[in-house]
Amino acid sequence: MTALVAAISGIYGLVIGSFLNVVIWRVPRHESLVKPPSHCPACDTKILNRDNIPVVSWLLLRGRCRNCGVAISPRYPFVELFTGVMFAAVGARFAHSWALPAYLVLTAALIALSAIDLEHYLLPNRIMYPTDVAFIVLLAAGSAGDQDMGAFGRAIIAGAIAFSIFFVIHIVSPRGMGFGDVRLSFLLGVSLGWIGWGELAGGLFAGFLYGAVVGVVLIAVKVRGRKQQIPFGPFLAAGAMTFILFGVQIVDWYRHLGR
Ligand SMILES: [Zn+2]
Repeated sequence: MTALVAAISGIYGLVIGSFLNVVIWRVPRHESLVKPPSHCPACDTKILNRDNIPVVSWLLLRGRCRNCGVAISPRYPFVELFTGVMFAAVGARFAHSWALPAYLVLTAALIALSAIDLEHYLLPNRIMYPTDVAFIVLLAAGSAGDQDMGAFGRAIIAGAIAFSIFFVIHIVSPRGMGFGDVRLSFLLGVSLGWIGWGELAGGLFAGFLYGAVVGVVLIAVKVRGRKQQIPFGPFLAAGAMTFILFGVQIVDWYRHLGR
């Protein structure tokens, strides 16, 4: 059962990943998501349906446009493959919970937000707000399905707590943490709090830890100067996903350490 849900979620993820590529390119450029249909950025030729199969088409065309031969960035198949893998992992994790759709929506949004933040230092509200609404509605439905409305209440309180903590950090250090990160913290707080308080603390802490470690490494190898901005969103998202997927085991292991 778990393997089946993971496999179906993974295939679904490849297709969603293809859509995320459109989101990642167009949302920061304020373009429509539906019009015009996907086209080659160099020669403007519309991309045929048979050339739009996730990962496979890019490999068959050896990363080039069928019409003009211009190189298509490996970022496209990478986003598709990564989304497929993450969906499979979330599918396995929530195979026995009605909260699966909520966490798949969250996963897709976090991938799009992270990719845009890495390139543009921006977490667009055009993605954040619809995700907040969709995730909370689906999580409420999932909690009812799982007959665990207590988890839903805890999730909302956790979102408020996370938002408050990040808001205070933003007030103290507005350059260190943008308000986009504060908005994102609410979503991450809700998603982690639904699982448990330990996962909430661990997931947020892991985000800071990842950001700090990578920041120090980038400065050490002089890729980034001390004063240059490093996008924080992808690290917060990665920290949350770590504890969404493995938090129950990590928290359990941590509790046994003291005995
Ligand atoms: Zn072309």
